[in-house]
Amino acid sequence: MPASHIAPGLPPDLPVRLLIGGRWQPAQDGAVFAVEDPASEERLAEVADGTEADARLALEAAVQAFSDFGRTTAQERSRWLGAWFTAIRDERQTLARLITLENGKPLAEALGEVDYAASFVEWFAEEAKRAYGRIIPASTTDRRLLVLRQPVGVVAAITPWNFPAAMITRKVAPALAAGCTVLLKPAALTPLTALYLAQLWQAAGGPAGSLNLVTTSHAAQVADVWLGDGRVRKVTFTGSTPVGQELIRKSAAHVQRLSLELGGQAPFVVMDDADLDLTIQALRTSKFRNAGQSCVASNRMLVQRGMLEEFTARAKALVASLKVGPGLTPGVEVGPLIDRPGRQKVLDHIQDALGQGARLEAGGEALPGKGFFLAPTVVSRVTPAMRVMHEETFGPLIAISAFDQLEDGLAMANDSPFGLAAYAFTRSAARAWRLAEALEYGIVGLNEGLPSTAQAPFGGWKLSGLGREGGSEGLDAFLEEKYVAWGGLQG
Ligand code: NAP
Repeated sequence: MPASHIAPGLPPDLPVRLLIGGRWQPAQDGAVFAVEDPASEERLAEVADGTEADARLALEAAVQAFSDFGRTTAQERSRWLGAWFTAIRDERQTLARLITLENGKPLAEALGEVDYAASFVEWFAEEAKRAYGRIIPASTTDRRLLVLRQPVGVVAAITPWNFPAAMITRKVAPALAAGCTVLLKPAALTPLTALYLAQLWQAAGGPAGSLNLVTTSHAAQVADVWLGDGRVRKVTFTGSTPVGQELIRKSAAHVQRLSLELGGQAPFVVMDDADLDLTIQALRTSKFRNAGQSCVASNRMLVQRGMLEEFTARAKALVASLKVGPGLTPGVEVGPLIDRPGRQKVLDHIQDALGQGARLEAGGEALPGKGFFLAPTVVSRVTPAMRVMHEETFGPLIAISAFDQLEDGLAMANDSPFGLAAYAFTRSAARAWRLAEALEYGIVGLNEGLPSTAQAPFGGWKLSGLGREGGSEGLDAFLEEKYVAWGGLQG
């Protein structure tokens, strides 16, 4: 296949190649792979299919570039990031369209993702200048004790398809802000947004070799090259828990630093004193953003019995009001799922629940025709034995379960090996505090369905990961500390 196919409607100069050492180049063996639109199942583009040989070239480029880039000033890096932020904002429409085409999410949501992605670049352009060290009081007068903070080195970043822009900038912007050079491998399902972002980094003056991009359909092969080389000092990954666990094992040989943003299984706890209008609005965001394919998507609706009937009726009304369709169609609120297996998993969760006695309140089926559409679905009478209660569904399914006392709801919410995000709804400050403090999750939305923001630390407990992205913590993840003991300072 030629390495040049780009469907009409995409930026004609989209560089569908690898970015290595500042040069766009085809894969060493000339191979390409296809990217499809999940709404139409049509081919959008063919992009270079990197292999181990390309991963090695990119690694050499990143290592070489680090010797200069790692010594640039925070001010310089801040300026490049500031210019990248402006370029992303200027190209907001093009980026959003790319996201919708390759990921499927509605255009309005894609525009929101571009703004969210840009906000990380803006935040870390500012944070770059605040990588302060420390001076520690010494116990003798002839010594000074200093702590320097330095870039960790070459970083490998591996990202998922569900937020094709934001999951990249949330890693790449702090890495560059810290002075690290980056090896980026975006998801094979959504490489086009990544290519455009990298092109904008170049246009913003980003130095050659600071950001290297390898698109590939051989994720493990490429990752193995980077994890198998001790010159890669940090691996930052967002994706599924099983792959994250594999990376933990593989990083052991060189004790590479790891940041892992993994799967979730968020409880959505509704107390009987909750403001139901606000709760349903939050349900809509937390459940139907990206058709439920978000790591912080609410997965289990745990509703106090006094509110159960009304909540179920409102959830049914909500799904009935949602317009499902291709993301570029005006007014669409729920797009397709990313692919056929992704849709099948949601259908399996629905069938499993119904087979074990749950009640179908709305939806429940795949929509006919092209594209991986699924009717937004509500099931009630859900019990802990059902898959939807302990696996990540990643789709537009509202699964409702009842509890009696606050402590029962808390116990159900915490009965999970995952610990990324949890949501709780109540008008009582005392209940809100009890829930916020007792939920075993890295992120808690209190009367809030969209907690993520650039200036706050984002990350999970337990099987949901290690480390934090965003906030001041997001920069720390790419800095090493060095303690300098300076002696002989008499007179
Ligand atoms: P995934 O299959 O784990 O893939 C994520 C990335 O890892 C992709 O780039 C993928 O490449 C790559 N990959 C796959 N197998 C690999 C291997 N053996 N070695 C190295 N890299 C490998 O996850 P996904 O289906 O794309 O994303 C959905 C998951 O991400 C969900 O579980 C979701 O909860 C999680 N997520 C978490 C967060 C968070 O912040 N906690 C945010 C978003 C998503 P290919 O594309 O080529 O397979």
